[in-house]
Amino acid sequence: MEVVHTIPELREAVARARADGQTIGFVPTMGCLHEGHLSLIRRAKQEAGFVLVSIFVNPTQFGPNEDFSKYPRAFDADQAGCAQAGADLIFAPSTEAFYAADATTTVQVAGVSAGLCGEFRPGHFDGVATVVAMLFNATQADVAIFGRKDLQQLAVIRRLVRDLHFPVRIIAHETIREADGLAMSSRNRYLATDDRKKAAVIPQVLEVARKLAQSGVTDSAQLCSAATRLLAAEPAVRLQYCEIVDLESMAKVPDISGRKCAIAIACHLGATRLIDNLDL
Ligand code: AMP
Repeated sequence: MEVVHTIPELREAVARARADGQTIGFVPTMGCLHEGHLSLIRRAKQEAGFVLVSIFVNPTQFGPNEDFSKYPRAFDADQAGCAQAGADLIFAPSTEAFYAADATTTVQVAGVSAGLCGEFRPGHFDGVATVVAMLFNATQADVAIFGRKDLQQLAVIRRLVRDLHFPVRIIAHETIREADGLAMSSRNRYLATDDRKKAAVIPQVLEVARKLAQSGVTDSAQLCSAATRLLAAEPAVRLQYCEIVDLESMAKVPDISGRKCAIAIACHLGATRLIDNLDL
């Protein structure tokens, strides 16, 4: 496995793989890799001959009061994990190597990025769409794997690829969970031991909604209120939003009948913000 830090080195490594007749599979990450990321890498290896992982904590997708400077970084462990999961190349640029100092171009995916996290993290999805567009251009990947855990991000990327004709196939990979159901996240390590235990209520809340939906309830307000009622028993978990949205447009749906939709939730435990979702 090779590690490169600049765009020219990346292009050269990708050109070599292509000259070898390989297709390029791509897994973008911000590092501090856990089993969820590694499972994306293994999936990429099933889909493409050559697997490229980017590790880049993208400053433009963090708000001024968010955790950019303290976002966990663990490059040595990440390298070992990538190699073990079957990656062929890591692209880990510095901010300076990736963004022109006077860069002024931003990609905005309107609509899909407006609600849910977009409402509480203004500019976040502009940062995501811009960095992913840049990464697609830099890597020329044939296929890219994204986690369903970041449901709105996935919808934003799918729309970006469709609208701008990026020649890349997007694959959504299932959410990988801890034994108690909590979705794996690099941010879980911020949680104090007590809060970590309490966080298990988040996936339970989603399951309540799914079971109700399976039993025939279709009214979104009813599903969300049944779900969030369970949260009230755990005051340490502060709800930011709980919405039922259309999987493609991310628009709120009043009733789930006949639609592909998911319940999406964001909560705070202490200063840590966690998101999760489940298809209904
Ligand atoms: P991040 O490093 O948090 O930006 O995530 C990089 C990629 O890993 C994104 O496509 C995420 O959706 C995906 N991902 C993060 N956590 C999980 C998880 N628990 N299961 C599956 N994919 C995940």
